[in-house]
Amino acid sequence: MRDEYRCIEPEVGAMMHLLDEDDLEPETRRILEHHLRHCDHCRENREFERALRGLVAQGAVEVPLSLSPRRVAARVLAWAAPVAAALCIVIALFAAPSQDALLGGRDAGAHRGPTGAFAVTRPVDGEALGGGPVVLSWSPVDHASGFIIRVTQTDGDYAWTGEAADNRLALPADAPMPGEYLAVVEAVPEGIAPDGPAAVTFRRGRAGAVLAWRLNHLPRAAYWLALVALGLGVTAAVLRRL
Ligand SMILES: [Zn+2]
Repeated sequence: MRDEYRCIEPEVGAMMHLLDEDDLEPETRRILEHHLRHCDHCRENREFERALRGLVAQGAVEVPLSLSPRRVAARVLAWAAPVAAALCIVIALFAAPSQDALLGGRDAGAHRGPTGAFAVTRPVDGEALGGGPVVLSWSPVDHASGFIIRVTQTDGDYAWTGEAADNRLALPADAPMPGEYLAVVEAVPEGIAPDGPAAVTFRRGRAGAVLAWRLNHLPRAAYWLALVALGLGVTAAVLRRL
């Protein structure tokens, strides 16, 4: 039984397009036309191409097949997905981490008291920091003349006290690493911050631990962008395969 969906002589079938050329050798033309009479596959292909050409000539089909709306959409999405992913990485690296852990963990927000209260703004509570300089910052307090910062290592005996006139102070470079810390910031004069001293815990650790913590505390915008990038990428891949 003949399979009408396959070319009966593929090496001849592959030359069918030559039939459209005017300066084709008569002998080759004879062979191709003979093949066309006997090969259902090639005859159907020719008829389909002729019909398509007719439609394009009438203006019914204006868009070439290679630029179908589906492919255009796939291309735009394939371009948009990496842009969203890159934006997500920029936000994840440079924006303040989210106070809530994506995968559970304690709610750091609970340690910070009511909104607008005197609080440490960075690091956020529980934050994992790397080997670089640690800069503590906190919210301003009206009429405070300065701040006293006490940092103690909770898994060791390092302790340090510093003073600052404004809202930030760098921890000395000799603070042990890895290490877990408690920082307490007190406004001067005593009692000028109505809700008492501000406190935060943080730790210094290796890059892997810092990365894991940051991934778990992705800023909300970065988290949603990551989902959008994933969705765009998957959609682009599906559209391309359809
Ligand atoms: Zn054929």
